[in-house]
Amino acid sequence: MAKCIDIQIGESRGIVCLCQTDFNCPKCGKLHTEDDYYKQLDKSKHGLIYKKCKGCGVKLGITSDIKGDIRVWLKEEETKLK
Ligand SMILES: [Zn+2]
Repeated sequence: MAKCIDIQIGESRGIVCLCQTDFNCPKCGKLHTEDDYYKQLDKSKHGLIYKKCKGCGVKLGITSDIKGDIRVWLKEEETKLK
């Protein structure tokens, strides 16, 4: 679900569109529509968080790229990413 928010940065004011924050579990395909992880991402030091899938219970790594799009991967496959 794309959300548009009004922001004010210094002198300039504008509408920022937060991109899609819904994602599907890469393992079981369950759709996650919560946006609380987006707030957690904001607060997290490394820009990534781990969450358990509510469908299959697998651990998911979640981060967002430079455009604000959500990237999701399986934590068990993480070593392959490095
Ligand atoms: Zn799942």
